[in-house]
Amino acid sequence: MITLNNIHKSYVMGSSKLHVLKGIDLDIEQGEFVSIMGSSGSGKSTLLNILGMLDNYDDGSYHLDNRLIADMSEKKAAQLRNEMVGFVFQSFNLISFKNAMENVALPLYYKGVNRKKRNAIAMEYLEKLGLAPWASHMPNEMSGGQKQRVAIARALISQPKIILADEPTGALDTTTSYEVMEILKEINEAGITVIIVTHEHDIAAMTQKVVRLKDGRIDEIIRNGELKAFRHTYTKELETA
Ligand code: ADP
Ligand code: MG
Repeated sequence: MITLNNIHKSYVMGSSKLHVLKGIDLDIEQGEFVSIMGSSGSGKSTLLNILGMLDNYDDGSYHLDNRLIADMSEKKAAQLRNEMVGFVFQSFNLISFKNAMENVALPLYYKGVNRKKRNAIAMEYLEKLGLAPWASHMPNEMSGGQKQRVAIARALISQPKIILADEPTGALDTTTSYEVMEILKEINEAGITVIIVTHEHDIAAMTQKVVRLKDGRIDEIIRNGELKAFRHTYTKELETA
């Protein structure tokens, strides 16, 4: 579903250039549950944004669903993005003056679905996520975990093939983090490809494949079952850091 070949990305600021991704090769199959790990500044968000067509790459190739993602008009990219990808962010990115139902319904508003219909569909998604009683509540009346579930419902309403989540548990306590990860796992079990960025080992350990970025390259890819060994190396790394 996703094939990255020798992806490079630099940020240019004034006269200096920061080479963030230095040749990323990565294949992700449909239905995989993947985490991208790495220290702060290692390019995790940059990679996720390229995957989600929120940002361009400089060199290499990115094929999504057999389509080359390059040099598209913003309109075409937006269209493909809306049909393929749902986003979840660390800070939830809910609209503060809209209630939970309206936040979930937002992608359908942009598609031109009428209010009655989009709110009815939004209610179905809120129910799926156990949030029906919160439909008319505003974001500031909800806990972090509830807000993230609203954000997940909003990401799902367009029926994407991929969910991309940048530090989805970064603002949550441990218990709530696991709850959110369980939801992402269920979504994945329903057939949706889920790719998360995290720097927490225990969160990454809940995914099937851990991609570790280091100095702009993939340092290692650890598959489920090898995670125990991974924990060991990782802990060792922390101890010697
Ligand atoms: P991570 O998510 O792993 O913390 P990022 O992908 O956000 O890393 O950033 C990688 C590097 O690129 C960092 O040094 C960051 O400061 C820099 N960077 C990220 N986005 C931009 C941008 N839009 N312009 C300039 N530099 C950026
Ligand atoms: Mg980041």
